[in-house]
Order: sequence, then structure tokens, then C-alpha cells
Amino acid sequence: YEVTEEVVDDLPETDTDVRLILGDPDRAFALASLPVDGVGLAREEFIVTSHIGSHPLELLGRGEEDRFIEALRTGVAKIGTAFYPDEVVFRLSDFKTDEYRNLEGGWKYEPDEANPMLGWRGASRYYDEAFREAFRLECEALRQVRQEVGLDNVIVMVPFCRTPEEGERVLELMDEYGLSSDEMDVYVMAELPSNIVLADRFAALFDGFSIGSNDLTQLTLGVDRNSERLASLFDETDEAVMRSITSLIEEAHRQDLPVGICGDAPSTIPEYSEFLLEAGIDSISVSPDVAIETMLTVAELEREE
Ligand code: PEP
Ligand code: MG
Repeated sequence: YEVTEEVVDDLPETDTDVRLILGDPDRAFALASLPVDGVGLAREEFIVTSHIGSHPLELLGRGEEDRFIEALRTGVAKIGTAFYPDEVVFRLSDFKTDEYRNLEGGWKYEPDEANPMLGWRGASRYYDEAFREAFRLECEALRQVRQEVGLDNVIVMVPFCRTPEEGERVLELMDEYGLSSDEMDVYVMAELPSNIVLADRFAALFDGFSIGSNDLTQLTLGVDRNSERLASLFDETDEAVMRSITSLIEEAHRQDLPVGICGDAPSTIPEYSEFLLEAGIDSISVSPDVAIETMLTVAELEREE
């Protein structure tokens, strides 16, 4: 498709939402002019790396926790404001230990893991004694965005949640830190095979799923997503990955929960949207450069149907 002003003006409404994947809050206002349905993945890591630069535990140790909270609150509030009232799904931190070690002071708090992709990341950190205080800062920044700034379109997503028990512990802790799941939708990412196999149990805890096709492919096929040698084996269209996605959507819908996708597959594989629509996905998140093309594709597929 050639993306002209007329094409954008004539974009039809679609049943399937098309949303953005976004990192940099300073791009939010410009990107909000795209006729998308909000943000399906707002990444915390960009804000921490570019606007804070220090490990949260380092700031806590120096009594500078307010700097972390303020910078995170400002970044999230920019995205929430730009897209208001459309939903912005903000993902809690999912740095790997090697990435945390690159932040100022990070080496003091992070183990030097042989395999950070399978290491101390995502939900497992939040309730860990060694990280819990840093998680409290994330929750406080989000609490302020929702309750003090008033941006109730910002909701939260928990990444890399290995077990339902872990999900329960994280939700309890969020509640304790002022982010009650009674007052706000909380999504969980579906990016581990355990999320698919136990989808019914995750569905009983959370308000929706967002498929992380990058990690789901890596872990379903046992292919390191960073390995150049294995790049040709990293295949989101593999039958095992696609069946996992189909089965997750079926189970979630049985329990009346929405399912989106926020991994890279629909941004990099144009035909992926067709498969996702057939599987019954509720929203597709893509990088901003392919948002219009994806909207046109979705509109055409829905019309054909
Ligand atoms: C994914 O795994 O698909 C995802 C969106 O998360 P990340 O790429 O940040 O691991
Ligand atoms: Mg992931």
C-alpha cells in the first residue's frame, strides 16, 4: 500500500484493534496522530535507560528514589496523555541481568548470569527480597499516573510470568503498593510455554493476555533469539508456535478475556495478521512504521470475511 493522506483519512473502522508498540515517550504526541487504537506495549526499559540511567537499587541506596519515580511517572504520563482516552498497556520492567548491569551501579546488584534470557527477569524479580523495593518504585510511579494525574487509560502488564503462583504473588504485592487489580485491568504476557499450557489458571488471575511472540518462539522451539547461528531456526510461523497461539486464544475466549499480541511477528511478517485474525485475536500491536499498512490489511481481511 502507498500510505497517502487520502488512504489515512479513508481508513475504515475495524473490529480487531491495531495498536502501537512504543518505547520513547518523546515520540508519543507525534505518533498519537496515527489513527490507531492506543498502545499495546509501552516499554519501561527505554524510560529507565534514557531518562534515568541508574539502577533503581542504586538510587534507593543514595536516598534518590524520587528521581526514579518522577522520571518514570513523567514518561508514562506523556504516553498516557498523548493517547487518552485510548488504552495504553504499560509493561512492568523486563530488563535482563546483563541489561541491568549496564545501568549505573548495576554491577553491584545483578548476578553475572550465563544465560540472562532464562535468568532473573520479569515477574520473578518483583517479589524477590533483593528487588522488591525497586518494584515498589515502579508501582508508585504508576499509582501516581493513574490516581494523581488521573490517566486511568493506563493499565499494567506483567511480563515473563513463569507460574500462576508467581502471578498471584505479584498481584498481591501490587495491591500492597497501591496498584489494586480491583480498580484496574492487569494483563499478563503469554510468552512462556507454561502460559499456554496453564492458560486457564492464568486467566483466572488476570484480565487479559498479550502474546510475546519473540519469547514464545524462543522458548517453544528452544532457539536462542539472539543467536545469529540459529537465526534461520527462529520461526514464528512454526506450527508449534502457531498452535500455541490458537490454543491460548481459544482458552482465553472461553473465559471471556481479551487477547492481543505485542511481539514482533505481525510487524515483520505481513501474512501473520491473516493467521491472527483467523485465530480470533482481539488486538494486534505493531511498530509505528507499519501501523497504517497493518490497519489496511486488517480492514481488507475483515471485509473479505
Ligand atoms: C516478546 O517476547 O515478544 C516481547 C514483546 O517482549 P520482549 O521482546 O521485550 O522480550
Ligand atoms: Mg518477551
